[in-house]
Amino acid sequence: MDKNKFWFYKTMAEQVIQSLKRNNIDAIFCETSDEAKKRVLSMIPKGSTVGMAGSVTIRELGLLDELSRGDFKLYNQYLPNLSKEESAKIRKEGTLADFFLSGTNAVTLNGELVNISAMGSKIAGLTYAKKVIIVSGVNKIVKDVKEGIDRTRNIVAPMNAKRLDFNTPCKETGFCDYSRCRPPDYHRICNQLLVIEGERERERITVVLIGEELGF
Ligand code: SF4
Repeated sequence: MDKNKFWFYKTMAEQVIQSLKRNNIDAIFCETSDEAKKRVLSMIPKGSTVGMAGSVTIRELGLLDELSRGDFKLYNQYLPNLSKEESAKIRKEGTLADFFLSGTNAVTLNGELVNISAMGSKIAGLTYAKKVIIVSGVNKIVKDVKEGIDRTRNIVAPMNAKRLDFNTPCKETGFCDYSRCRPPDYHRICNQLLVIEGERERERITVVLIGEELGF
């Protein structure tokens, strides 16, 4: 990454980390994906059960490969050839695991986390799992919640709809057409919207901000 761009992102990341801590959410900065992967793995004791949300960032960090090696019990709802029922069961078990691993769709300068979900298992994990680790590239930083919601609908949703082959207007045009996006013609990829503004217990959520552009 260009050194000026890195400086810009890092300066914003420092502000985000302070804000997250003020909101009782733990946060650290890692300069590279490799460093972030090591930090995340060091937070999860061997033998732990691990659930996860669908996340391009998690894949890009190579965490799925590491967590599938046998030292952990990974609930992976994206394994090939799972039936719909099997996938739903794994999603549910994942939200009750020792750790829940997720990306985020946006993180604000005020330390709020903005996320959408099609079916809700991501929301359940983020809100209720015992320990949550969120990995995020610095490209997810936005000014405020309004900008965060805009990001989820006009950047994250179209790309995920394309990736997962959801039938949505944003997959057709690249931006949200909220009023048109209703069944039976369309099925939203953003049925649920979660804004985490703070936490009661400081240790429950840790955000790992990474000095690279990652995920959607
Ligand atoms: S409401 Fe529909 S068109 Fe808008 S972001 Fe969600 S899925 Fe896409």
